[in-house]
Amino acid sequence: MKKLNVMVIGAHPDDCDIKAGGTALKYLAAGHRVMFLSMTDGSMGHHLTPGVEMAARRFGEIRAVTELTGIEYKMLNIPDGSLTADLMYREMLMREIRVFKPDLIITHRPNDYHPDHRNTGQLVMDCSYLIIVPGVVPDVPPPRQAPCIFYMSDNFTFPGPFAPHTAIGIDEVLEAKMAILDCHVSQVYEWLPWADNYPGKVPLGEDKKSRLEWLAGIYGADDARAAELYRNALVEWYGEKGRDVRHCEAFALCEYGRQTDREGLHELFPF
Ligand SMILES: [Zn+2]
Repeated sequence: MKKLNVMVIGAHPDDCDIKAGGTALKYLAAGHRVMFLSMTDGSMGHHLTPGVEMAARRFGEIRAVTELTGIEYKMLNIPDGSLTADLMYREMLMREIRVFKPDLIITHRPNDYHPDHRNTGQLVMDCSYLIIVPGVVPDVPPPRQAPCIFYMSDNFTFPGPFAPHTAIGIDEVLEAKMAILDCHVSQVYEWLPWADNYPGKVPLGEDKKSRLEWLAGIYGADDARAAELYRNALVEWYGEKGRDVRHCEAFALCEYGRQTDREGLHELFPF
């Protein structure tokens, strides 16, 4: 079995976890290497304490994810809310990609409500061809072959809805995925309940089992909706067994970067 380098590139330190945390755990269990890269420092992700203090706190949260799972988690020193698809940031990203040498990259689609998500997707697209060009960012050697790029799922429908090439069942790692999200205390228990006006009480301070159950009621429910929405992709991927999958994460192959066929898709997602 070829050992894969899997790079998930999100705008903020929790995007990769929410959209690909379960799949990442499956890669790790099968002996592959996974890196989560956050393009920004997450410093605006709080209503009470935005700024440097927040970036430091979020760095602690990604460290906790690494300690819990073995995911290599990195956060670039770019201010949250300020990511633009410009040359300087493109070259920063290019270096990260070339150093990690991913076989596949998973990232945001470049159409999204959040400018940081949109520009993260755009920056990955902007690296997709130049990654192999030796004269571009000449201080880091280019790979001979560009990686395949996949989009994480989203609910946006314009100019076209997300259409998956694969849907990965994550039932067996759902609780472990919730434990990853539990590391992002400032987000799942503080910022997002405030920003999204969650009704009811947040279980911060309660025991871990209660917290994970509460998280499953929110994020696990999203993964359950994905399994219903992408049922056809699940059946195509797993055959009839795909009908029994209750939670999934789905990915669509980007037209930029290396292309692959069905067999190649199963090599890149070997489960
Ligand atoms: Zn985000």
